Amino acid sequence: ARAQAMEVDESPTVEYDDIGGLDEQLREVREAVEDPLVNPEKFDAVGVEPPSGVLLHGPPGTGKTMLAKAVANQTDATFIKMAGSELVRKFIGEGSRLVRDLFELADQKEPAIIFIDEIDAVAAKRTDSKTSGDAEVQRTMMQLLSEMDGFDERGDVRIIAATNRFDMLDSAILRPGRFDRLIEVPNPVEEARERILEIHAAEMNVAESVDFTDLARDTDGFSGAQLASLTTEAGMFAIRDDRREVRREDFDDAYEKLVAEGDDEEFGAS
Ligand code: ATP
Repeated sequence: ARAQAMEVDESPTVEYDDIGGLDEQLREVREAVEDPLVNPEKFDAVGVEPPSGVLLHGPPGTGKTMLAKAVANQTDATFIKMAGSELVRKFIGEGSRLVRDLFELADQKEPAIIFIDEIDAVAAKRTDSKTSGDAEVQRTMMQLLSEMDGFDERGDVRIIAATNRFDMLDSAILRPGRFDRLIEVPNPVEEARERILEIHAAEMNVAESVDFTDLARDTDGFSGAQLASLTTEAGMFAIRDDRREVRREDFDDAYEKLVAEGDDEEFGAS
């Protein structure tokens, strides 16, 4: 069961070009993660320690996982993903054990990128409640911090975490030597939405009449993941109608469907 808690991808396929609208974030991730892996001598020469850990924060479905996978691809690193919620275990010591296993595996597979999604599950601010469950989560977080403190000797292992709940994080994990590089990944602005739609429609047979500039304007508040769904759904409507090309009306139908389904998901910023 322990192995299943981690997702190991020896050669992720996401490319930097697959990511729309996050140019500044990508630049920062490359500087903090790619450069230290590819050009460690640059850091040695200047005498500066690369950032220990990178924390990506922002709403769901904005490309945080994509950024981590793309940099793993670019550096030929193994991508090892662990969900923070997986680290919250029932039995005492199980969470810390998983953290140890995670770093051990990364050492074996180096170069490797550890990606901890939903880090807030193990690194939330201390609450007043003194239930044993909280104490166990606390222990897991301490184990994570101690693994990160022993980071210098780790060589080609870089660590990236992600959260949708930045406000909930315990400041202990943000100290220097821990997650000391913060990168905000926001919902896409109009221009970014256009790029994301184009990326996801790149392989689709889209009619001339479809104007992605228009579509981008009409999808205020959509995340990258929601734009990806919109594009796929539009394709499904074309197929249902037994057509070989996707028209603007298909995107409109897809839009209606997604907004209707996603009432509680805050589709669109209306
Ligand atoms: P979560 O916080 O829910 O884990 P996330 O920020 O890690 O989300 P991803 O898993 O990277 O989001 O994105 C989910 C999917 O949404 C991607 O596989 C992709 O299809 C699409 N997507 C999201 N953001 C972008 C983007 N900036 N450019 C292109 N596609 C995107």
